[in-house]
Amino acid sequence: MSTDKNTQNFIGTSETYLKNTFADWKPYRIHQMFNWVYHYGCRDFSEMTNISKLMRSQLAEHFHFSLPVIQSRTHSQDGSIKYLLKLDDGALVESVWMPSDSRKTLCLSTQVGCRLNCSFCLTASLGLKRNLTAGEIIGQCMTINEDLSKENAITNVVFMGMGEPLDNLNPVVDALRLMTAPEAMRISTRKVTVSTSGLVDKINDFQKENIHINLAISLNATDDETRNRLMPINKKYPIKTLMDCLKNYPLKPQRRHTIEYVLLEGINDSDEDAHRLAILLKDIPCKINLIPFNSFESSEYRPPHDKQTFKFQDYLIAKNFSAFIRQNRATDILGACGQLAAESQNPSYV
Ligand code: SF4
Repeated sequence: MSTDKNTQNFIGTSETYLKNTFADWKPYRIHQMFNWVYHYGCRDFSEMTNISKLMRSQLAEHFHFSLPVIQSRTHSQDGSIKYLLKLDDGALVESVWMPSDSRKTLCLSTQVGCRLNCSFCLTASLGLKRNLTAGEIIGQCMTINEDLSKENAITNVVFMGMGEPLDNLNPVVDALRLMTAPEAMRISTRKVTVSTSGLVDKINDFQKENIHINLAISLNATDDETRNRLMPINKKYPIKTLMDCLKNYPLKPQRRHTIEYVLLEGINDSDEDAHRLAILLKDIPCKINLIPFNSFESSEYRPPHDKQTFKFQDYLIAKNFSAFIRQNRATDILGACGQLAAESQNPSYV
């Protein structure tokens, strides 16, 4: 795989960019290239035999291929694997592959660290080091797929690893287009979910991109005071502003948002919280994922009692919501929601 740094990484390069760069090429040529790279795993332009020699040499002048490199794999007792991946400049990110009977889900990262400073999240302790490129985002899927056997290939992708995806909007959108394009990675839009802490302006921008990916909103509180404490971004986009944004978000038929609600003992898990949550969400097509907090050593928060978790869920179900208690995955290897980061603090990367 060529990694000439005077050229651009082909992985993650958008169709629009290629159309502008090679304006005299027929659009189907670009689709042929995508097919070679994302479907057949080709990493050498000279092997693209249905493309003319001239075009292949033009491509080689402009592009190289580069993918994240696996530094380590940590296996969880539940079958999940946490990958530590090294990027071209030495930065490290984590991705978690989680198998179940019906699906193989990859949780990928969109930033090195994060600047949103949610108080229950270990990634926040890193601060934001930098955004990932589209190639580094989709490259996590490609590298990990190449590490897995065919029957374990990724079927679903969640953008819930390190970083706030909508804080890195354009590369995330480019990666999503390649991930879901029939001529590229071919993952159904129904099987891809982007999680956000509720950046209302960016949710509106994302909607204009017309990609129809599932959106998961990390809500985690039912009053502004508590949410300000848990998620400082709430001071900029308070709960009502966020709820209004979701009410106006045009969803395709049969689609609904996912509301993520991390349950923290004594903070947001009371009967009153369940009641307020039902009122907040009553006009929003959604399902609710209740996530008992995954504790880590330096955290001030604790998981809720099982009894209270079930009571919270029962209340929402009685109010006709689809409410699920999400099984924690990879908790024994710090691979669960909000736990990614510790191993990726690389002192050599500034
Ligand atoms: S929960 Fe998400 S948005 Fe909040 S600090 Fe962690 S990675 Fe960033």
